[in-house]
Amino acid sequence: MIVARKRFGQNFLHDQGIIRRIVQTVAPRPGEAVVEIGPGRAAITRPLLAACGQLDAVEIDRDLIALLRDPDTGLDGLTVHEADVLRFDFRPLARERKQSLRVVGNLPYNISTPLIFHLLDQIEVIQDMHFMLQREVVERMAAAPGGGDYGRLTVMLAAQVEVFPLFHIAPGCFTPAPQVESAFVRLVPHARPPFPLPDKALYARLVSAAFGQRRKTLRNALKGLAGEADIRAVGLDPTARAEQIAPPQYAALASHLLSLGAVIP
Ligand code: SAM
Repeated sequence: MIVARKRFGQNFLHDQGIIRRIVQTVAPRPGEAVVEIGPGRAAITRPLLAACGQLDAVEIDRDLIALLRDPDTGLDGLTVHEADVLRFDFRPLARERKQSLRVVGNLPYNISTPLIFHLLDQIEVIQDMHFMLQREVVERMAAAPGGGDYGRLTVMLAAQVEVFPLFHIAPGCFTPAPQVESAFVRLVPHARPPFPLPDKALYARLVSAAFGQRRKTLRNALKGLAGEADIRAVGLDPTARAEQIAPPQYAALASHLLSLGAVIP
């Protein structure tokens, strides 16, 4: 008997209709390199494996790992990597599988945002990502400038992936039921950069400083990184706030600073 562990964000999917919908949406094909994050009790793992023939999964919970590896569980073709996914390097796996990875997961909600940033750092080996997340996180991912949902996550994703919110899932589809609504989302790396971004680290630094103090004006929030003249030089209003600035404008400011020889403090 497997007990759901809160510290590992365990809410196990039991609704067969939703499980089918997830797998149909991911539409895995034989020979693809699919990696599941947090397979848990194999609710999605089993149909994914049936579709692909072989599957990698990253799981932290030893009791679940033992269950997943038990021959009686009948998951032949599944390779379970015992690891904290926040420290897992997907690049060697992509090399081993000789192709970019399709990443899937009903994510542990307590680590979903740092996990997405961890995956963005390895985006070059990822073909696409499908995640179940808190509905609120998906709304933040896909937000337009100007609103309260628009933030660091939105702007960092915009530079690297296209976000497709797909459908909502009610708490009753999980055991135990989470306190929040969930949503399923697809993230696809841009084939071509949507705007010029010569220095990702500088962009990240600016975005994080701007949203770190989102109630302040840009002029104040970016102190030490960009001066008022720099902000004006790319056509921005120094009294604007972080949420009013679109991703390409952050990129333009980063490019401007780079052209002046900026180094990341
Ligand atoms: N995929 C299963 C399902 O849909 O029923 C379980 C989903 S449950 C929300 C999250 C899963 O991620 C659990 O299996 C949990 O043990 C695992 N997990 C939590 N933290 C993790 C971490 N840091 N690294 C790897 N797996 C983790």
